Amino acid sequence: MKCPYCSSTDTKVVDSRINQTGDITRRRRECIRCEGRYTTYERVEEVMPLVIKKDGRREPYAREKILDGMKKATQKRAVPTQRLDELVTGIEKRLQSYGLKEIPAKTVGHMVMAELHKLDKVAYVRFASVYREFKDVEEFVAELQDADFKQANDDPSLMMFPFAANDSESGGDAGSGRS
Ligand SMILES: [Zn+2]
Repeated sequence: MKCPYCSSTDTKVVDSRINQTGDITRRRRECIRCEGRYTTYERVEEVMPLVIKKDGRREPYAREKILDGMKKATQKRAVPTQRLDELVTGIEKRLQSYGLKEIPAKTVGHMVMAELHKLDKVAYVRFASVYREFKDVEEFVAELQDADFKQANDDPSLMMFPFAANDSESGGDAGSGRS
């Protein structure tokens, strides 16, 4: 760590404490050369699982892609962008809590749908209609009637998709930007 006053890298820690939630360590340092004091913060780098695409490719998790899809779905709806940010952060925390190295893109998509469903039904329908690529109106209506799908369990392996049989043809998933 370089001293902000004299750029020396000779430093000693004079105080070290952890914050209330236990995820940030604050260190008070003193420069050995100029005795200037400064503070550093240390936190664990957040590790997100890789996203498994439909064709089997693995991609780094991309927050922007998910946020982008949610923004499109909530266009002209009374949903603050900050709320979307919070929802994505919540999804990320859950993804991290699973401790998996990789996670299917559709699991992420399902989590987004579940959040949108709670947030704004129109946004949910928009997102779902793009994401799920309903074949016809009946299928779509059936989905809407079934829209109160259970979101309670947090186990990603139990997150099944009623439209999974459709999978081979549908080109969309939440993380891909739906090209
Ligand atoms: Zn210094």
